Amino acid sequence: MSVIAVRNLHKSYGKTPVLRGVDLAVAKGETVCVIGPSGSGKSTLLQCLNGLEPFESGEVIVAGQHIGWGRGGARIPEREMTFARRRIGIVFQQFNLFPHMSALANVMEAPVQVLKRPRAVVEAEARALLARVGLAHKADAYPADLSGGQQQRVAIARALAMQPEVMLFDEVTSALDPELVGEVLAVMRGLAKDGMTMLVVTHEMGFAREAADRVIFMDGGLVVEQGPPAEVLGRP
Ligand code: ADP
Ligand code: ADP
Repeated sequence: MSVIAVRNLHKSYGKTPVLRGVDLAVAKGETVCVIGPSGSGKSTLLQCLNGLEPFESGEVIVAGQHIGWGRGGARIPEREMTFARRRIGIVFQQFNLFPHMSALANVMEAPVQVLKRPRAVVEAEARALLARVGLAHKADAYPADLSGGQQQRVAIARALAMQPEVMLFDEVTSALDPELVGEVLAVMRGLAKDGMTMLVVTHEMGFAREAADRVIFMDGGLVVEQGPPAEVLGRP
């Protein structure tokens, strides 16, 4: 059973085709890394999966929900999209934490405000999530007082707080100082090991080699190759 299923996805910006017939499936519990040159459409693919970008044609199903709005694809009501999006966690290159809120408050925000879940329950879960990303001791710290790696780990905890069925990662270590990359990748490795379904756009070939069940190579808006890491990436 696929958690992500993409069939013949086409998307352009203006007249420029960016995705030219992408097919993709990610099974429950699978970690798939997406690699490829800059401009090959990796980010755009994630944005289509999360309903952040409309597309012209094709089918996108994530966590059992049709995604797609605007110019084409399966047109589904905005309200349904909103519900679908709750089941999809996404982490970007920029951490995008709320600067005026503590780490704990950042993690609690969506479950309390969006899902209207009880504060006490959410707080206990948020503390457990901060512990899971190695930041139990930073619950009360504000983003400005955290390193980039710590902020990114809070961003991962914040996405997990919505109890998503799938996590999308868009070059989440690309904006980090090199010495902070490892701590973020370690958290992602842990999630993969725990059976989270993950689609990871990354330039970290070491991570792709060790953590991915499958690697997808994109070029020119198409999936041009996919398979086990050793097959797609060659031997180190
Ligand atoms: P990648 O993530 O593989 O680097 P992107 O999906 O970011 O690729 O970009 C694919 C192509 O689409 C690039 O040529 C990029 O310049 C273009 N592009 C991305 N976002 C936009 C946008 N919002 N408007 C116009 N063109 C865009
Ligand atoms: P990445 O390749 O890491 O996805 P980019 O530098 O290509 O990042 O894009 C950064 C932001 O700028 C994205 O939000 C993307 O949608 C937007 N963007 C990229 N290329 C264009 C473009 N040609 N026209 C307008 N927006 C663009």
